[in-house]
Amino acid sequence: MAVIAGNWKMHLGPSDATDFMKSVDTASVPTVHELIVFPPAVSLHVVSSSAARDPRLQVGVQNIHWEDSGAFTGEISAPMAADAGATFALVGHSERRHVFGESDGDTRLKVKAAVRAGLVPVLCVGETLQERQSGRLDEVILRQLDATLDELRVAERFLIAYEPVWAIGTGETATPADASDAHAVLRARLEDALGVAGSATVPILYGGSVKPGNAAELMSAADVDGVLVGGASLDPASFREIAAATG
Ligand code: PEP
Repeated sequence: MAVIAGNWKMHLGPSDATDFMKSVDTASVPTVHELIVFPPAVSLHVVSSSAARDPRLQVGVQNIHWEDSGAFTGEISAPMAADAGATFALVGHSERRHVFGESDGDTRLKVKAAVRAGLVPVLCVGETLQERQSGRLDEVILRQLDATLDELRVAERFLIAYEPVWAIGTGETATPADASDAHAVLRARLEDALGVAGSATVPILYGGSVKPGNAAELMSAADVDGVLVGGASLDPASFREIAAATG
């Protein structure tokens, strides 16, 4: 079983999202796989409720505020996302951390809000190129995980996505060995915190320039339980091909 998730970022508004859902057709994807798409918030409702919706696709929100409601112009809350059909929430995506300046403290509060609303958090962690080159990979991804562990451990379910910042949207992909090494570090921490059995229920996905041509190789790497795909998930055929390639 693998998880194949598509992060649409700021693409596919309601009309394009409806077209995606009409043509994605996941019948060729092995049924053991779990498929999730993360549309922009304005498309959540059409994706989750479209009559043409592929019943195998689950839906998540890309970002939430940590409060449930209030005077936060432009923000959306976890309960609102759930009401619009989301069952998953991305938290700590590198673009949130590095473009919008989200701190580890913010991600902790967002994980807490997601869990409170019954959403499944997908915590994203990953190092910059400079952090990797200075030998700080393990320190950075463990710091990001540790900041949220107390909130994650009370969730009924959660996922982790290891996404090296230097590989997101750049065409640069971690090698399968790079992905396995980082995933093993995260897995060891999860085992310490949750025990071997508790940790085994937490998929660790790899993300960073995954495409139809490299998905199978990455997916076959040790400790890689799925993929989080940005750019290549926008085209229904490419998303389907990635999911099918990981059988
Ligand atoms: C992402 O947005 O999570 C991502 C991995 O993007 P891309 O596949 O485009 O690198």
